[in-house]
Amino acid sequence: MSGILEGFRDPEVARTLVAAIVETATVPAKLMEVCGTHTMAIAKHGLRGLMPETITLLSGPGCPVCVTANPDIDLAVEMARQPNVVLATFGDMMKVPGSYSSLSAEKADGRDVRVVYSPLDSLAIAEAEPDKHIVFLGVGFETTAPTVALSIREAARRGLKNWSALSLHKTVPEALRALLNDPEVQITGFILPGHVSTIIGTKPYEFLASEYGVPSVITGFEPVDVLQGVWMLSKQLAEGRAEVEIAYGRGVHAEGNPTAVTAIESTFEPCDAEWRGIGVIPGTGLALRSEFAAYDARLRVPCTPPEPREIRGCQCGDVLRGVVLPFECKLFGRGCTPEHPIGPCMVSSEGSCAAYYRYTDYGKS
Ligand code: SF4
Repeated sequence: MSGILEGFRDPEVARTLVAAIVETATVPAKLMEVCGTHTMAIAKHGLRGLMPETITLLSGPGCPVCVTANPDIDLAVEMARQPNVVLATFGDMMKVPGSYSSLSAEKADGRDVRVVYSPLDSLAIAEAEPDKHIVFLGVGFETTAPTVALSIREAARRGLKNWSALSLHKTVPEALRALLNDPEVQITGFILPGHVSTIIGTKPYEFLASEYGVPSVITGFEPVDVLQGVWMLSKQLAEGRAEVEIAYGRGVHAEGNPTAVTAIESTFEPCDAEWRGIGVIPGTGLALRSEFAAYDARLRVPCTPPEPREIRGCQCGDVLRGVVLPFECKLFGRGCTPEHPIGPCMVSSEGSCAAYYRYTDYGKS
């Protein structure tokens, strides 16, 4: 174990924080952990079981693979079916089911779909195989968008003619507004994502407090980080405060990372994006700016997938809105498992259903 992180996994510190939470959280609160990595940490370390009865932890829409809607997955599948196209993407996207197929099913059917560890790897494929057109499928939030932005710029610098990016990137803050505007969703506080906040800082979240009176805390991914975040939220609620606080000072500064934000804003522009379970949220997508049209896969490999359809019985959309917990889905552990996933929340390494299946006993009796 790394010495730096040891203190963030210290059982004594964790016990002290749990006691402080129990003492502070005297009124019922529904706290949403927005980020899939937080969901994993909460399930892995059994933190849900340490909460007092007053606190309900809800999972949110912070797994980028899970919130990618069927029409977008269908489009990627359709691109992979085009002649001479190599579809390159991160491993997490391979098994995610769309309406009719997945990228791994397409690969099994002979399409040229390749897993890469960085968008730069896909540039190398383009250089090595000039007779093919490489589409890099970019999925992720503000955390991964800067790397893809820089890869688009690098493709331009190298003068690549056979590479383009399909941007399915999304930005987080306005999705939280959509949740707060949803009458079915009840949230009294947000545990905000550490990685995304490293890039964007605190300002984009200020409306949570100023417009909705909802407190939030940005925190990290070790058990003590998460417990500290819950305690700080409980304190805000107990004191009648609503602010954006940072419990992850080793990773996040209030101003974020302006260089990364500039990389995003100078390469992409906001567009509407469809989120699984939530619907279209204006301005939360990232489309390539017109000066990078030559690298926009939607223009370079135009194609139209069939009409999308929903996955029967899957409640991923409700899980991602925090309306149901993963193990409340009828298919959880009964037909839908990490070995045989039905919905994306069971596929992704950050998916709520995968987290609860892997680390808890729910659905296994
Ligand atoms: Fe979807 Fe499977 Fe989770 Fe149900 S258990 S919500 S089908 S991923």
